[in-house]
Amino acid sequence: MALTIHTLDFGDIELETSFLVLGHECGRVRRVPVYGFLILGGEYPVLVDTGYRDNAIMETLGMRGHCYHENTVEQQLAKHGLRPGDIRYILHTHLHIDHAGNDDDFPMNTTVVINRREMEFSVSGIMYPQYPKPDILHLVERIYEPEAMRFLDLEITQAEEIIPGVWCEPAGAHTEGSMNVIVETAEGLACICGDVIYDFNDQIINHVRVNNYMEPQVTGNHAGSKRSEKGQIKRLLNNYTFLLPIHDRGAKVANGRVVGRLGMSCPGPITETLPDRHWFPA
Ligand SMILES: [Zn+2]
Repeated sequence: MALTIHTLDFGDIELETSFLVLGHECGRVRRVPVYGFLILGGEYPVLVDTGYRDNAIMETLGMRGHCYHENTVEQQLAKHGLRPGDIRYILHTHLHIDHAGNDDDFPMNTTVVINRREMEFSVSGIMYPQYPKPDILHLVERIYEPEAMRFLDLEITQAEEIIPGVWCEPAGAHTEGSMNVIVETAEGLACICGDVIYDFNDQIINHVRVNNYMEPQVTGNHAGSKRSEKGQIKRLLNNYTFLLPIHDRGAKVANGRVVGRLGMSCPGPITETLPDRHWFPA
């Protein structure tokens, strides 16, 4: 059973560069994509992350959203002949504003899968504006429907399977409850790594504002320590063949280094599929 990963294009956001890479180019605005990933070929269709609710909600963070009709969840799924009700599981790398914004478009028998620690963290008041009220209140509604919500306890279990060939692991970075989604593809393990990495170029390849050899730079937006952020980025670079973050083109990695980038223009169009895709040297 060969699993394939398809990139969904939920639009772009404009934000300040130092939000992406710690202390880098303060005041300069960057436009980055917001991706989701559709995993097909397995027991059920699985969706990872759902983008942001609408352009207006990004203004609450002082960011500009560029989500148009073609970027809606419905339109992106329709490109693959699917409707929201066809998705069996939605996995959230974490619950920030640009990752869990459209769950109320899905029926209550689509199971939303969240690391329990992230649900707790979302209502802790830490990083408050990044967890908007309508998204979080909807998730609370799901807790009271038997099939609508599944909690993982990844700090204890370390890994939990969703369907054969797809499992979740604790990210240990970005937010307290972030998780990575691992997918077994024909060409190796792919890791959908949420916002643990924002920008391969500035954090890992050129690693701006750090001195030491093979020392990754952290993002400007994390809830834990800088040491743990760096360590978890290194773990990703050493354990998987493909890394797929939500706001940058994917990377192929080997021996702690980026050896290729997913060959698509950034921010779009995004149609590549693993493993049927083209990789270019970094
Ligand atoms: Zn994000």
